[in-house]
This record gives sequence, C-alpha cells and structure tokens, in this order.
Amino acid sequence: MRKKIIAWVLATCLCIGISGCSMLPFGPTSGVGTSSSTNSNENASENSSQSSFEEVIEEGGMSIHFLELGNWYTGDCTFIKVGDVDILIDAGSRYDSAGTIVPYISELCTDGVLEYVIATHAHQDHIAGFVGNSVYPGIFDSFVCETIIDYARTNSTSKVRESYESLRDKEVKNGATHYTALDCWYEVNGAKRSYQLAEGITMNILYQKFYENKASEENNYSVCLLFSEGDNHYLFTGDLEKTGEASLLTNNLPKCKLYKAGHHGSKTSSTDLLLEVIQPEIVCVCCCCGSAEYTSTVANMFPTQDFVNRVAPYTDKVYVTSITSTNAQKFESMNGNIVVSWNGKEMEVNCTNNNIIFKDTEWFQKNRTMPEAWKN
Ligand SMILES: [Zn+2]
Repeated sequence: MRKKIIAWVLATCLCIGISGCSMLPFGPTSGVGTSSSTNSNENASENSSQSSFEEVIEEGGMSIHFLELGNWYTGDCTFIKVGDVDILIDAGSRYDSAGTIVPYISELCTDGVLEYVIATHAHQDHIAGFVGNSVYPGIFDSFVCETIIDYARTNSTSKVRESYESLRDKEVKNGATHYTALDCWYEVNGAKRSYQLAEGITMNILYQKFYENKASEENNYSVCLLFSEGDNHYLFTGDLEKTGEASLLTNNLPKCKLYKAGHHGSKTSSTDLLLEVIQPEIVCVCCCCGSAEYTSTVANMFPTQDFVNRVAPYTDKVYVTSITSTNAQKFESMNGNIVVSWNGKEMEVNCTNNNIIFKDTEWFQKNRTMPEAWKN
C-alpha cells in the first residue's frame, strides 16, 4: 500500500509539473497552505504572510495544520511539520476521512515517514482515519509511523478502537515504537517526557490524572501535549474535559500563543481555570460548525456559546475548520485547513478558504451572542 501512495504522490508531482501550476495541487477545500481569502479585511500584510508561510516550510521551520476531514462529522486531525520531522495528532473523523487527510499530509511529508504519531483517545472522531477503509487506506497503511504515543486507558469496546489497536500493533511488529502517555510521563520502557524535534523546538507530554485513574468519560483519557518553539508555546488537549483540565494545571503551564480548543469548542472544556493560565492568543477549533450531530440546541453546537464567552476575554483570533452546509449532513469549508506558524516576529494564520475570524462570520452573527469583549 505504501508503494501505491508513493506512486500517487509521484503522479501528483508529475501532474503539477505538466500543468505548470503552483506547488498546490488540491482544490479549495483540501489545498496545502493556499490563502484564498475573501475577507474584506485582507490587507497587504496578510498577503505577504502567505509567502512567509511557504518560507517557513522551505526553511525547515515549524508549521501546524488543522485539517478538514472531508465530511460533516466533527473530529480532529492536526499535522505538524518541523523541518523533516512530521507529527500527526489524531486522524478523525470517520474511516473515509483518510481520503482527505492522507493526500494533504503526503504533499508535505514527502519521505512517507511520520516520525511521531499521537492518538489522543479512543473515539472514532480521533482515530478512524488511522484505520481507513477499502477505498481510502488509513494512516497506518499509507505512512511509516516511527513512534506512536497514545492513550494509557480506555473504556471503549468499539470496533474502531479494536481496528486502530490491531493496525497499531501491526505497525509495531513492522518496527514502530509504541508508548502510552503514561509511559512517557514516567519515562519507562524508553519513553520520554520531552522530545527534541529541532534546535529549540520540543514536544512535551503533559501529565493529567486520567492517564492512571478511571474516568467516566472517555474524553478525559486524552493525551495532552505542549509544543515549545523558543519562547512560544502551543497546547493540545484532545477532548479533555473539565476535571481533566483541572488536573492538567499541575504542569505549571505557560502562556500559550496557540491553543487547539479542547473538545471541539464544547461547553465542558476550555474552562476559566485553564484559560486564565494559558491566556491563548490564537484558538483553533476543529469541528463542523453548527452541525446537529450531537445536539439540536443551537447554543451547544460546536463551537458553543459558553466556549465563546470564556475565550473572548483573551482573544478574538478564533478559527474554525468546517461548517455545516444548508443541506443537512453536508459540509463546507469555514476557514478550511488552518495553518499556523511563527515568522520570527509574530504568529501567522493562513487558511485554505479564508482568514475570517469566527466573530466576523455570518454564522456567528446569526447564531451567537457577541460577548462584551468582542464588541467593537
Ligand atoms: Zn472529539
């Protein structure tokens, strides 16, 4: 299967060469790093930031990609590139999401090797893409995964968990290394708490008590990570909820330039206690905005009104991957794939659909109450 993927990448490269288009072969919902903003606020600096994002990739800097998943189901998939080191955190939301995320990652991970793969917890909206299906081979069949770090505990008995773990174990038989987050925290079996990805850039596995205690809610088993790039910090908490977040604070967390909204912007995550400490500057929400997948109460649809109210005092730079289209059970790009990088002076955000912040979207204005901090 790897050969097939390599062939696909080669064919894509060939196609680009023949058609003479840019390095970006995909359409607007799956392109890598294209910034086709329709934002009326778009200005020269946003345009120039696009070229510097490409420079980040070329110069071996760190870029963080929050991916769309190719369907209307909420889920997570974050790809991080640090020079030649490729990291994937989760691969949701359904088996067929592999058809969207594998081509995107292949474009950037040109050697077919993911040095680090993290599966935060055993819910399908985070692991189904590792499995894939007969039409769309999953992550494990498409890339060599070197170090796999995943949940220490689960209550799940689902088929998708079973398939994920059996493919993971097959990858281990083929040479991959597997640790749980708890192994990493206690640095047993060769696992480490902190991995150096490049000079001055580290990936740190944080502690939270549900690595070693039973949780009633699967989300609280989520592996939590802090990336540090010089003095900049980026926080990923999977779908960790309130009690897990409280326990996360024992890590002495720094202020974070970037925070992936916990649990897709749910009202049960991104608590005041956590936000007071990390004071995020940019918040990325991986979800299908306004979808009725989990609730018919509009205020509680991702990203929830409670999440908005709590984040608003810290930043209005909130970005969202996808949105439900007017036809139920279909999706469109909201910001699209969201790419965040540091240009040496500031964080840049470049999205494949547009760079409009959440509060300025039509959906927000129709479905959310503007918090005080976001007025004017
Ligand atoms: Zn989730």
